[in-house]
Parts: sequence; structure tokens; C-alpha cells
Amino acid sequence: AAKNAGRNRLSYFTQALQESAQHRLRLINDLRTALPSRQLALHFQPIIELTSRRIIKAEALLRWQHPEQGTISPAEFIPLAEETGLIIEIGDWVFREAAYWASRWTQNTDSDLQISVNMSPLQFQSEALVIDDWLTHLCALGVAESHLSIEITEGLLLNAHPEVTDKLLGFRDAGIQVAIDDFGTGYSALSYLKRFDIDYLKIDQSFIRNLETEPNDLALSEAIVIMAHKLGLKVIAEGVETEGQCRLLMDIGCDYGQGYLFSKPLPAADFERLLQ
Ligand code: C2E
Ligand code: MG
Ligand code: MG
Ligand code: MG
Repeated sequence: AAKNAGRNRLSYFTQALQESAQHRLRLINDLRTALPSRQLALHFQPIIELTSRRIIKAEALLRWQHPEQGTISPAEFIPLAEETGLIIEIGDWVFREAAYWASRWTQNTDSDLQISVNMSPLQFQSEALVIDDWLTHLCALGVAESHLSIEITEGLLLNAHPEVTDKLLGFRDAGIQVAIDDFGTGYSALSYLKRFDIDYLKIDQSFIRNLETEPNDLALSEAIVIMAHKLGLKVIAEGVETEGQCRLLMDIGCDYGQGYLFSKPLPAADFERLLQ
């Protein structure tokens, strides 16, 4: 009987494995047509200047509206896009789409709104990403480079190969600012902050979550702000959900905040309404 139960458990296990592998393959297959089928959209989450509570930036966040499965999180499909190389095409669309909205929201205004775009490390390794093509696109839309910025993670800068360094410098030279996303969760080798001219550090939400109860998280956040300011960088806190967290972040001199306290990521039309 024990042997039988074991066998049943095993077949249950292999069946579950098989199902998840099939699910993956189906998603990968569907992802190939997601872009031409217009199932991808950008949502925009405001980034607030803490002292004035003004919206000064927004982060563009991808959403996949799957015809059968509803909204699929980027945490689930970005890794698949990276595995298949689709990230290059999708990332190209993300930048151009973000540029379109940036031009729409800043044209004929004195707004200094900046839209930030997440970049996969794979885009930096790809010859298919030509920054000049993106700059031409910005020029055609009539939007200044300062209205766009990119978010990268620390890992990209650790063993940066020449093609990565060249692209990073290309963005800098064009006047597109650079933020380090999820700061504090990677290797934090820090020396790259000196090597590359970074503009923003985004403190990862895992430090912000327990800011009110974990003195160590507060101490680390404060240390990040002090270091960043000494180096001439601005700091954005991610995942701000409570007034208490916001107050503490102001106390330690953090510049900007992003999180559900201010707003969830919104469809473009809703974000546009928020701007007005
Ligand atoms: P991220 O760049 O660190 O983005 C912040 C994530 O935190 C977003 O998740 C956002 O919805 C979520 N968030 C914002 N405020 C709060 C809050 O107050 N509480 C909590 N618990 N969460 C909050 P989302 O939209 O699911 O995106 C997940 C990740 O997917 C992003 O993390 C980013 O790494 C990646 N991603 C999203 N869009 C793109 C894209 O266009 N290209 C690439 N390469 N990656 C993307
Ligand atoms: Mg980000
Ligand atoms: Mg982040
Ligand atoms: Mg700088």
C-alpha cells in the first residue's frame, strides 16, 4: 500500500510538472503574438516629490491583457520574454510607447514630467538596440530627452562589458537620466556609482515595508539617502503604502516616493486625468 501511495504521489507530481511546463509553453507561444495583437499596454505610476506632494515623474509598467487568462503580471512574463529573446522587441515597443505618452503629456506645457522605463540587461547586450533610432523617434515626436529616463538593476553594472558601457554612455550623452532600480537587494558593490554617472537610486520596497517597526531598515534607508546625496544623486523610495512610512522618509531626507499611498499604476487615460 505504501508503495502504491508513493507511486500515486509520484504520478501526481509528474503530472503537475507536466502541466506547469505546458502552461509555460502556451504562455511563451501566446507572448509571441501579444504585441501584434495589441494585448500589451503600459500603465503609469506617479512618483511624488515628498515635500510638495507634486507628481514629477511616472514609471511605465507593462501589463499583458491575455484573452483567456486576464491580466498577467510582468513578474511572470518578463522572464519568459527574456528567455525567448522577445524582450528586445517588447522593450523597443515599451520605449517608443512611453515616449509617445511623454510627448503627449509635456507638449505645449512647461511640465518637467519624466517617464521612466524599465530596461532588461539583455537589451544592453543586444546589437538590435540602437540608441540613435530611439533618439530619432524622440525627435520625430518633438519630445526632449529629459522627459525620459531608464531604470536598470545593479547586476548590469557589476561586470559591465564594453557593449553595456557604450550603451549606458549613449543614454547619458543623449541626456536620458539613469536610475538604479531595487537598490540594496543586489550586490551593492557601490564602486559602479563612481564609474557611471547615475542620477537616481530607488530604494527597494523590501526596506520600506517595515520602516515603522524595523529600526535596521530605517537605518539602512537613511544611510542610502546620505550616501546618495553626497554623491549628488536623488533618492526614490519604492512601495510607500502608509503615511507613517512617508513621514519617516521625509525625516531622513528622501527626495521622492512611489507607492499605493499616492497611487497604484494607472492606465494612461486615468494617469492623464490625474495630471490635470
Ligand atoms: P519594478 O520596476 O521594481 O516596479 C515596481 C513594482 O512595484 C511594480 O510591480 C509596481 O506595481 C509595484 N508597486 C508599486 N507601488 C507599490 C506598493 O505600494 N506596494 C507594493 N507591494 N507594490 C508596489 P509590477 O508592475 O508588477 O512590475 C514588476 C516588475 O516587472 C518591475 O519591478 C520591473 O522589474 C518589471 N517590469 C515592469 N514593466 C517592465 C518593462 O516594461 N520592461 C522590463 N524589462 N521590466 C518591466
Ligand atoms: Mg522599475
Ligand atoms: Mg523596483
Ligand atoms: Mg548625475
